[in-house]
Amino acid sequence: MSKVEIVAVGTELLLGQLVDTNTAHIAQALAANGIDVYATHAVGDNRERIAATLVAALQRADGVITSGGLGPTIDDLTKEATCDALGVDAVMNEEALRDMHERFSVVVGREMPANNRKQALLPRGALMLKNPHGSAPGYIAFSKDGKFIASMPGVPSEMKPMLAERLLPWLGEKFGSHSFITTRTLHTMGIAESELDERIGDLFATQENPKIAVLAHGGRCDVKLMAKTGSSHEAQALIEPLEQTIRERLSGVIFGDDDDTLESVVLRGLCERGQTLAVAESCTGGRVAAALTRVAGASKSFVGGIVAYDNSVKIQHLGVQTEDLNAYGAVSSEVAAEMATGARERFGASIALSVTGVAGPQGGTSEKPVGLVWFGLADPSGVKTRKMQFRGDREIVQQRATAYALGLLWKRVRQAEPNVAPTT
Ligand code: ATP
Ligand code: MG
Repeated sequence: MSKVEIVAVGTELLLGQLVDTNTAHIAQALAANGIDVYATHAVGDNRERIAATLVAALQRADGVITSGGLGPTIDDLTKEATCDALGVDAVMNEEALRDMHERFSVVVGREMPANNRKQALLPRGALMLKNPHGSAPGYIAFSKDGKFIASMPGVPSEMKPMLAERLLPWLGEKFGSHSFITTRTLHTMGIAESELDERIGDLFATQENPKIAVLAHGGRCDVKLMAKTGSSHEAQALIEPLEQTIRERLSGVIFGDDDDTLESVVLRGLCERGQTLAVAESCTGGRVAAALTRVAGASKSFVGGIVAYDNSVKIQHLGVQTEDLNAYGAVSSEVAAEMATGARERFGASIALSVTGVAGPQGGTSEKPVGLVWFGLADPSGVKTRKMQFRGDREIVQQRATAYALGLLWKRVRQAEPNVAPTT
């Protein structure tokens, strides 16, 4: 069993100016290939500290994988630090030099500047990792006791293919790793983490393989099953019975799995039933429509929407009654209902959803505090409204209201009512 540590190099990472997505990407790829990651680190563009981090990591692990700091500039020091950590010098790699000359004449269209030669220097004894998407090659360098430091460029579009096409195959051969991690994610809605724990918490304690994890984000929870096996066939066999148990215990709150999103599931459901959807949004400013139209093929069932922010738009374009706006206010059950009905009629859709609320930070009153949102759902059987009180700043209220709206649509679509004819 091989274990590896990951080091991200770059002062920007320490200043919080750059989010380290490389480490997450590398870690996921290693996990999927059965290689254990024991620790991850971020270190600045400082030769001594990079070298010290590498030395310490190599004492614990079989190898270290780095990203960043391989370029031609003065602050790119990963290679120098690797040489320091391994006690070797850097030597010119003729193949890397040839690749760089070729790249300059073909891609850049001019002679290679002299200071780029430095990039073709590799730690003595290292294997070169070709970089077809940039000039700096990566490498796998070795310590005297057979451990390795593999370094890749920081630019994600160069690092990712190098990892997939060069480094992972090498790791697979070297460690003969024949174990894979297969995951299955179940997405839930409308259930709190604590209640999830009550319903399936006992399984966590007893399960080693597959492992179970609950990940909460954006007001929803995912249940993740991770199986470590020698083949994907075996993984399925391990995951399926447990998945079945979890699905039974969480019946009614799982809306999809793996790559599904609430919006993709809503659109699929509408499509299967031959239904169409329109939206009328006030406080979410088009976020519901934006979420829906992110899904490829949304046009099969999503007709369109209107951002009815000002009352005049609610009146003119959705047919909301001026008297009702005056009597009940824009954030009310009555107006939510009229917005939904108006959108359904005007867009000729089977179903229409409306959102109207107080996103804040201003505009709240004791009766209608910030975070109060009314939703309307109109279909051939009539219109229903629902009130929610969200907590949080403007951004969070808008996010939660959008997620809630999609959740309402999901519940509506789930009620098997096939072939509701669009209005004409
Ligand atoms: P270059 O040849 O472009 O100098 P490099 O290997 O020296 O490449 P860096 O200089 O460390 O890489 O980083 C170049 C750019 O790559 C950064 O400005 C950033 O946009 C991106 N990058 C670097 N490290 C990471 C990381 N850990 N996560 C995400 N992006 C990163
Ligand atoms: Mg650089």
